[in-house]
Amino acid sequence: VPSEFRYKRVLLKVSGEVLMGDQGYGIDMKTVAQVAAAIADVAREGVEICLVIGGGNIFRGLSKAAGDMDRASADYMGMLATVMNALAMQAALEKIGVQTRVQSALVMNAVAEPYVRRRALRHLEKGRVVIFAAGVGAPFFTTDSGAALRAAEMGCDALLKGTSVDGVYTADPKKDPTATRYDSLSYQEVLAKDLKVMDASAVALMRDSGIPIVVFSIREDGSFRRTLRGEGAFTVIS
Ligand code: UDP
Repeated sequence: VPSEFRYKRVLLKVSGEVLMGDQGYGIDMKTVAQVAAAIADVAREGVEICLVIGGGNIFRGLSKAAGDMDRASADYMGMLATVMNALAMQAALEKIGVQTRVQSALVMNAVAEPYVRRRALRHLEKGRVVIFAAGVGAPFFTTDSGAALRAAEMGCDALLKGTSVDGVYTADPKKDPTATRYDSLSYQEVLAKDLKVMDASAVALMRDSGIPIVVFSIREDGSFRRTLRGEGAFTVIS
């Protein structure tokens, strides 16, 4: 990896909401293609990339659980949504020549490899982008927790959270014009101030594993590359 990059191996978490683009729901293939291009851009230069995609653009367990469904069943549906997003992401990456493998925490042999840690590590060494689907494979969790778990298991140097905002702010910058961005935060500050960056369980796992979380905007052209080089706007939690 050229020394211009700060990290050799990273896990990129993209929430389902990013993939829906401006549609308001579902998968916007134009946005998926943009995210794929940003990944290809750095993968070609040797940065090893793990990818976790959320499912909130299709189905979020908690929002359905209160009504007619029990939470666990609704959460399994949410996990299936992440598999659909993972396949969309895989298609977009392979279309532009990036080798990928999808590994699912829920066994679905016709669609994806089952999650096998040592096999995933081998894929990374061979330069393949590994897309981890179905979160941790258990209800009552989210893909943030799945991202943190896989980042720790894969020995990633950082967990990058790609959002539609270029970092963590004192308030919602889309609603409050006086909001300012933090350049850096400690894990403890994030937990104590209950900043909505990632789930508390994901933040705690990253703290215990000593893996920094970098929050940046994936929707801006070139921002993934810049963030990996330590340039531009982002927030580092360490
Ligand atoms: N989910 C789950 N366990 C996991 C990962 C996901 O139960 O390990 C379910 C949960 O219902 C969640 C949904 O899948 O609401 C979609 O994931 P998430 O909300 O994390 O997606 P994002 O907000 O990143 O789009």
